[in-house]
Amino acid sequence: MRAFAYERPERLADALALLAGRDGEARPLAGGTDLIIRIRDGSIRPATVVDVKGIAEFTRDVRLEDGWLRIGARTTMTDLMRDERIRNDYTALAEAAAYVGSVQIRNRATLAGNICNASPAADTAPALLVYGARVIAVGESGRRTIPLDDVFVRSGVTTLAPGELVEAIELPLPAGRRAGVHARRTRRRGHDLASVTLAVAIDEDGVTRLSYGSVGPRPVSVTDETGVLADPAASNEVKQARLDELFVDAAPSTTSMRASPEYRLAMLRVLGLRAVDTAIGRLAS
Ligand SMILES: Cc1cc2nc3c(=O)[nH]c(=O)nc-3n(C[C@H](O)[C@H](O)[C@H](O)COP(=O)(O)OP(=O)(O)OC[C@H]3O[C@@H](n4cnc5c(N)ncnc54)[C@H](O)[C@@H]3O)c2cc1C
Repeated sequence: MRAFAYERPERLADALALLAGRDGEARPLAGGTDLIIRIRDGSIRPATVVDVKGIAEFTRDVRLEDGWLRIGARTTMTDLMRDERIRNDYTALAEAAAYVGSVQIRNRATLAGNICNASPAADTAPALLVYGARVIAVGESGRRTIPLDDVFVRSGVTTLAPGELVEAIELPLPAGRRAGVHARRTRRRGHDLASVTLAVAIDEDGVTRLSYGSVGPRPVSVTDETGVLADPAASNEVKQARLDELFVDAAPSTTSMRASPEYRLAMLRVLGLRAVDTAIGRLAS
């Protein structure tokens, strides 16, 4: 492992200056559950690691701000699981957070880190996407708001500029009743990244939003506005046919050690139907 300088700035301006001044050789660190592994295995070799946990402007909370639910950059998976609004109004996100790693990992892993790491298997990405999340990014040239769907490019690559930090992730408030579900398939019980991950949110007006990951280089979001998926009276055959239309962009890696493309595509169909049925049941209860 290459030796690196460790910095823990207390002011955002200092953190941004550190990140901007090192010619791409500086990397932000939050919980470190992805970053430290990549530094150890040599896949990244930063000269400087900038710990964002000391930044006073970066909060560790979930709060209402200007009509959005704002999740601060230091907020962990455990924080999300414990938050009553997340559990009630963004159930798929609470469930996704609860699936990440182990208790120890969830106590350190931040939501912002899960997004910035941009793994196609990131558990929280599909849930955030079905709820219409946006990212507040801040860099030396100022702040900008990016729809989460525009952040992901491919594994490990986002549209964040070099030196830019995620300050918060924001969720629109629900317009009415809805039910959300997170589902995933892993090779084995215990700690493993998902071979397929999927989230569903069904609104009371019959619109169904789905997002699926680990079946392509980035998560994919689709919407069913026909009402078929939300219809408790629709048969499984009809719902499966609609899901097949919506999953047309699934393109699993042919080289992954985790699962074959055929298995991922088969599991995507199974998880999709199950998650839709669970969401219909939750909406009715
Ligand atoms: C044993 C184990 C099991 C795991 N299981 C799962 C799992 O089941 N599901 C899953 O989705 N993930 C899993 N992970 C991956 C990891 O825990 C998550 O991706 C986690 O959310 C990363 O957050 P972090 O705070 O630790 O990020 P870090 O490791 O600190 O950072 C991750 C990346 O994001 C960047 N970064 C961090 N914060 C910011 C910021 N505010 N602005 C800009 N860039 C930033 C870093 O530079 C780095 O590139 C697992 C990891 C381990 C070690």
